[in-house]
Formats: sequence, structure tokens, C-alpha cells
Amino acid sequence: MLHVRLSAMKRTVSLLILLASALAAAPIKALIVDGQNNHDWKATTPILKQILESSGLFQVDVATSPAAGADMSGFQPKFGDYRVVVSNYNGDAWPKQTQSAFEDFVNGGGGFVSFHAADNAFPEWRAYNEMIGLGGWGGRNEKSGVYVRFKAGQFVRDNVPGVGGHHGKQHAFQVVLRDMNHPITKGLPQIWMHAQDELYDRLRGPAPDAMTILATAFSDPDMDGSGEQEPMLMALTYGRGRVFHTTLGHGPEAMRCVGFIATMQRGVEWAATGKVSQKIPKDFPTANATSIR
Ligand code: ZN
Repeated sequence: MLHVRLSAMKRTVSLLILLASALAAAPIKALIVDGQNNHDWKATTPILKQILESSGLFQVDVATSPAAGADMSGFQPKFGDYRVVVSNYNGDAWPKQTQSAFEDFVNGGGGFVSFHAADNAFPEWRAYNEMIGLGGWGGRNEKSGVYVRFKAGQFVRDNVPGVGGHHGKQHAFQVVLRDMNHPITKGLPQIWMHAQDELYDRLRGPAPDAMTILATAFSDPDMDGSGEQEPMLMALTYGRGRVFHTTLGHGPEAMRCVGFIATMQRGVEWAATGKVSQKIPKDFPTANATSIR
């Protein structure tokens, strides 16, 4: 009798283990949004998709908007079918209904990732700017919010009048972590050399308290930069949702940087789940050497 019960118990335990591993292996559903951008979204979306899927964690769909100037009223992605939305979009305003659906999605606990020029989008959409914290171009200026720079060991907000969004000449540059205990950055080297890319400077925005600047980079005046330690990677919350904002990744070459790849994979997982389960890649760049794939 006891023997029978033990076997039954073992079977139940085995089934539970199988169920748990099946659940653990269930992919995180992610949606990339694209269709308009002053960047080559047709080239970069497949790279983003491959970067995410190669982690083994994500199943990725793409929602492509109508072209610039076309009727946008039918552009209504089903955000609620996903754990995280990754924006590779910088273009015409979305329909009000789509904006509301997106706000509800993030506010209700959905993840959002702003990739490179996605932070150029929607200068007039208040909630979007609260989500990304800082943005550039699109007529942004002091009315859009503050600059936030790292000076003498702390972040300083500056509301001096001036343009929002700029970059100098492309070059390889050091990314410096300012928060090494966040799930996205934990275990990464404090300083790593990012492959040649645009280094965004003079971003400005509401910079809500819910924004943590994870990493900065020095915007070198010799490269036509601002002379400031500018925000590169940000983590925010919006309502119950999480937002990862990376300024990196101008094009396919910059996206080969293992620092870009790993922070994107980790940022998307964190935005989706609040945790990061991934190991640090062995080929992660060091302080003085880039690493590309
Ligand atoms: Zn760019």
C-alpha cells in the first residue's frame, strides 16, 4: 500500500517538474513596432528580432505601420497579446485609440523598450515622454524638460534653454555604468568600449523620479559632442509597467557590439518580467577593447 502511494507521489512530482520546466521554457512574447523611422528600420528590425530570439527567451512578432503620411487609423497593434513592446518607430503620430491602448498596456504592467531613435518620436505625447524619460529632436527644447548629466559623482538636472537632441561624429566610446545593482547591469564590467555608434547628447525630457540612469558616456567635444557625461541606458517605471531605454544602435554595424546585444537582451527581459536570468557573455567588451559579433 505504502509502495503504491509512494509511486503515485513520485509520478505526481515528476509531472509537476515537467510542468514547471515547460512553463519556464515558455517564450516571452515580444512585439517590435516599426514602419516609419529616419533610420533604416527595414535593416534593423530583423537584427533586433534575431538578437532577441538568439537568447532563447523570446518569441518575436513585428507590427509595421503604414508609411509616413498614409492613413494611420487602422494601425492598432494588439499590445495586450505581448509581455513587452520594443519600439523601432520614429514617425507620424499614432491614432488616439492606439496611444490610449499603449498607455493602458504599460500602465497595466506591460514592458516597453525604446531603441535608439524611438526616443526621437512623439515629442507632443506626454505619457510617452514620461515613459522614455528623456528624448531628442522633433522640436524638443526647454519646454520638453531638463537635461540630466552626471557631474562630480551625481546626476544633475539642468533646465537651461537649449535644443533637445544632438550627436557628434560616430566613434567607438566607453559606456560607464552608474548603477551596477540593477538586474540589467548586474555583473557587467563597470566600463566597456562600445563599437562605433552615434553618441546621443542633449536629450531632454520630464526625467521623472521613476527613471534610473544605468549608464552614461562622455560626449567628447573633439567629436563635436557636448562635453558632458550623457545618459545612455535608462530603466523606468510607468504605472505598473517597466521601461528600458537604450540610446545605442544607430545601424547594423553598431548593433554588432556585444555590449549592445547583451544590454538589449537583458533590458527586454527585465522590461517583460522584472528579472534577468541571462549570463554575461564571455565575449563582452572590456574597458579598452570593443567586441563585435
Ligand atoms: Zn541614429
